[in-house]
Amino acid sequence: MTGGSLPPDGTVAIAGASLAGLRAAQGLRDNGFAGSIVMVGEEQHPPYDRPPLSKQVLAGAWPPERTALAAPDALAAMGLELRLGCRVLSLDAGRRLLSLDDGSELRADGVVIATGARPRRMPGTEDHPAVTVLRTLEDVRGLRHALDEAGPGCRVVVVGAGFIGSEVAATCAGLGCRVTVLEGLPAPLAPALGEDVGAALGAMHARNGVTLRTRAIVEGIDRPAGGGAEVVLAGGDRLAADVVVVGIGVVPATDWLAGSGLTVADGVVCDHRLFAADRVVAAGDLARWQWRHAGEERSVRIEHWETAAQMGAAAGAALLAGRDQAPPFDPVPYFWSDQYGLRIQVLGRPDPTDEVAVVEGSLDAQDGKFVALYGRGGRLTAALAVSRPRLLMAFRPLLVAGAGWDEALAVLRP
Ligand SMILES: Cc1cc2nc3c(=O)[nH]c(=O)nc-3n(C[C@H](O)[C@H](O)[C@H](O)COP(=O)(O)OP(=O)(O)OC[C@H]3O[C@@H](n4cnc5c(N)ncnc54)[C@H](O)[C@@H]3O)c2cc1C
Repeated sequence: MTGGSLPPDGTVAIAGASLAGLRAAQGLRDNGFAGSIVMVGEEQHPPYDRPPLSKQVLAGAWPPERTALAAPDALAAMGLELRLGCRVLSLDAGRRLLSLDDGSELRADGVVIATGARPRRMPGTEDHPAVTVLRTLEDVRGLRHALDEAGPGCRVVVVGAGFIGSEVAATCAGLGCRVTVLEGLPAPLAPALGEDVGAALGAMHARNGVTLRTRAIVEGIDRPAGGGAEVVLAGGDRLAADVVVVGIGVVPATDWLAGSGLTVADGVVCDHRLFAADRVVAAGDLARWQWRHAGEERSVRIEHWETAAQMGAAAGAALLAGRDQAPPFDPVPYFWSDQYGLRIQVLGRPDPTDEVAVVEGSLDAQDGKFVALYGRGGRLTAALAVSRPRLLMAFRPLLVAGAGWDEALAVLRP
């Protein structure tokens, strides 16, 4: 077997104590691994869930503690050694040797890399008191505090109309803030979903009293003498804000892998079974793997919850099965986003250059609800629905089977 198999009483080190890391530990235990699992996470908290941060927690509907991904007794039952508040500084992939920032070293028989992603920041704003990103529990606590301090009707500027920026805008509008969203592209989400669907989703902002400015390039964020922030746009416009939230994407947290011997290229490069090296697997937002689907193979990296969860479990199981025996990781990707009481759901892997057909509702429907299909080369590639969950799921078996475009178009025809 390539690289040898994992000894049943061996040690697995998991770098990153969040969704993918926790699911990897579960994947190992569910498949009978009885050895030690050491999970190292730089945050102080046991694994917690991020999607509620921009939704229920920011809205004040959930206390932050409700985001725990596993109850303390469930975590204890998994028999993990959790090293929290501890950062992995480096990995020697050949020797499976990790060095930690408490000065210790950890030698393992198998390694799971699950350190996720970090939000991009606007240069020069890292220590701006009125500017934040949203990735962690501390971020959401800080943002809530800033909104409470600024009071009802405060001015919030969101930089970036991606999924997280749009959710923050929707939640802040629900809290009574006056919200402006700035997007550099002609339409929000265009690189993921194409311009037409992106524009349709962007229209939700205006329908809910939020100003969306597209082609708005932020040049800087000033610090006015009286507090708050002033966002400076190319062309000279200046927008006063009490709070600025920057949602301009994330970068894979791979800095600590320099010199590891692994290939890192916009993520940790893995094969179709999630192996980055012998007995070293990666999972979650940072993993770039060979996705084989419907006769195609593509190198992909996906920054969504369902993929991170499934990939974590698959990576844990793969480590146990070994590099030759593990099955390919070939899911039909899925993600969702909640904005203004509507749920956007996407199944599959849309490409902005795909053909798009709206098969239910319309892109300018006042209730915002529609179903759109994406196709390429005569095949269905993805389905997107806004608050039409049952219709969306009708396309799942077709996506699994790699169905043709015409067959997909016929599904909702009377
Ligand atoms: C606000 C918000 C809302 C979201 N909403 C949705 C949604 O509605 N739908 C959806 O599909 N997805 C959503 N997502 C995305 C989803 O949460 C992520 O895809 C998921 O968290 C990825 O899990 P992960 O375990 O790969 O990485 P992460 O959750 O990023 O966890 C990685 C962990 O590793 C730690 N770490 C990093 N470097 C080191 C190191 N050197 N040593 C030790 N530890 C380290 C990090 O601190 C972190 O705790 C949302 C994300 C955010 C931030």
